[in-house]
Amino acid sequence: MKNLFKLRDDELEMSLDTYVKQEREILHIILEHIKEVSRRDLHLARGYGSLKDYLVKKFGYSERATYRRIEGANLLNQVPTLAENIKNGSMDITKISEITRAVKEKERVTGEKVSALVKSDLVARVSGKSSMESQKELAQVLDIEIKEFDKKRMQQDESVRLEFTVTKEQYEKLMKCQDLAAQKIQQDHKDLSLASVIEVLADKYIAEKTEVKTAPSEKVNQTLTPKTKIEILKRDLCCQFEDEKTGKVCGSTFAIQVDHRMARWAGGDHRKSNLQILCAQHNRYKYRKEKIESLALF
Ligand SMILES: [Zn+2]
Repeated sequence: MKNLFKLRDDELEMSLDTYVKQEREILHIILEHIKEVSRRDLHLARGYGSLKDYLVKKFGYSERATYRRIEGANLLNQVPTLAENIKNGSMDITKISEITRAVKEKERVTGEKVSALVKSDLVARVSGKSSMESQKELAQVLDIEIKEFDKKRMQQDESVRLEFTVTKEQYEKLMKCQDLAAQKIQQDHKDLSLASVIEVLADKYIAEKTEVKTAPSEKVNQTLTPKTKIEILKRDLCCQFEDEKTGKVCGSTFAIQVDHRMARWAGGDHRKSNLQILCAQHNRYKYRKEKIESLALF
């Protein structure tokens, strides 16, 4: 880099202009890369349970920066003209995030997917506008109320202060849960706060979701006993998918399932050495790969 201290004002300005342009070009290139990684499922091949996990752990992005880049890559996938807007600076990662948020809200309210055509129109409408103007425009065009982002603040004692908006219906549901959970909360000698209610709900949901499930491909043969599955779950604890190249093991505990290392249809049996825990993403990924490989055999 040049010694900035020695530059004249106009030189400094010109130099800044050059780098700002490069920064936009690089953002576009990075989003294209993320799009391609996602298309190939490379993050799964490399032993990560999700694209987010891959970008955070391998490339050191913050969670927020990761979400925004994934949103950018997804929008770019559906609206290819977005590339030009990013390169000329009329769209940035913040506005992409605003579009994504508005689209999600619209989909939540109507229960229907927003089409790529509408998204393309939204990109054109907010290009070159300020963040405030964009939010107003998005709310008007989609006929929605744009809610505040959830706010999260870590506190000194490791507790987290959360601030979020719920709809009237969501609030009523929470109140109903509070009534239903009141007895259990009092039994546990906890205060009847919303935090306690959410904890009861979360416990129940976690227990339900971590129950041992049979992978879809196993349903043909029911001789894999629940006892064996629990033993495998206790042995492995988390997703055992390993990237052959780097040896990285996924380790995700998200929606884990028992899997046959060698598939049943390929002659794999129920012996413990042939069983392992995989997360839902890797279970699907392995299944897809096996299918492609088996097709190649014929
Ligand atoms: Zn996994």
